[in-house]
Amino acid sequence: MRPARALINPDALRHNLGRVRIFAPHSRVMAIVKANGYGHGIGWAARVLSDADGFGVASVEDGVLLREAGISKPIVLLEGFFHPNELTDLTAHRLDTVVHHESQLWDLEHIRDVPHPIDVWVKVDTGMHRIGFPPAILAGVAKRLKVCMNAGRMRVMSHFPTADNRFDAQTPEQIRQFDVLTRNLNVERSLANSAGIVNWPSSHFEWVRPGIMLYGASPIIGLPAQELDLKPVMTLTSELIAVNLRRKGEAIGYGGDWRCPEDMPVGVVAIGYGDGYPRHAPPGTPVLIHGVRVPIVGRVSMDMVTVDLRDLPDAKVGDPVVLWGNGLPVEEIAEHCGTISYELLCRVAARVPRIESTISA
Ligand SMILES: *Cc1c(COP(=O)(O)O)cnc(C)c1O
Repeated sequence: MRPARALINPDALRHNLGRVRIFAPHSRVMAIVKANGYGHGIGWAARVLSDADGFGVASVEDGVLLREAGISKPIVLLEGFFHPNELTDLTAHRLDTVVHHESQLWDLEHIRDVPHPIDVWVKVDTGMHRIGFPPAILAGVAKRLKVCMNAGRMRVMSHFPTADNRFDAQTPEQIRQFDVLTRNLNVERSLANSAGIVNWPSSHFEWVRPGIMLYGASPIIGLPAQELDLKPVMTLTSELIAVNLRRKGEAIGYGGDWRCPEDMPVGVVAIGYGDGYPRHAPPGTPVLIHGVRVPIVGRVSMDMVTVDLRDLPDAKVGDPVVLWGNGLPVEEIAEHCGTISYELLCRVAARVPRIESTISA
């Protein structure tokens, strides 16, 4: 078996759900498991998070998959349905839908033969300017849903663009606007993502919607997950498959643009962009071997990464290598690569086996 694997820790995932409950003790928790559970496996994540009060997904297929896996809690389609022909599956599997656009509202009002009403989360746009009804028409939308035969229980939600910045002036204004807008609708409300949960207690309302913090990465730039007592759920690991002594001046890998500054050992790790390790990880991005951070050198290949072993002269073929996870926060790797932890986690390729493990790598 190829040694590249993603160890996924159910204790850490449950622990992080517990942290959400401590941050937001009066709210119900909609665990966000879209994008294959942020790369961890959607069925696995939902099963481990069975104590959550509901789940958020991005497709009817994912909702059906969770129902077929025996999940009976509410499941919410975060962008709603994409085509009215999905409404039959939606009702058959009791999936809740977001309604964010006039076209969806119209479909819901006009489709026939829906066997029973669908619970709706109306999305209002309080400043993300991506999806959602303008605040000015929310009351009108709510009125239409009240008389819509196909709409069941109504709830209201919105989303934050900048809640990770605790000095941001837009976020408290969004919270205030959302509160005022929805106060008299007498429905359950949801606003906070992970950053809102951590930074903005007044945004918690009846439902919070954590994603990234469940998986143990910090939602706040510059604030380590450890300080929030979040534990990494995924540890991406592989092994050294070669240790070679290189001469001063020798070029390493594709393009040959990284040259050895002296005679030195260079290790080869069996992982690459074909596994979802970012190809644009620059030289200097750390990997962890025997608890020691060593930098990658040269370019990331499809199946391999080369590392500078000058600080680990005893490293040998077969030694385990951590690319991120326990002891090496994924946020740190993301920062080296000019991206965010979310992208690294959800891009781990299908060929990397997810292996449940409670043992720290
Ligand atoms: C993905 C998503 C979330 C979770 O966001 P995190 O930053 O991962 O906590 C919450 N709400 C909506 C609507 C989302 O799409």
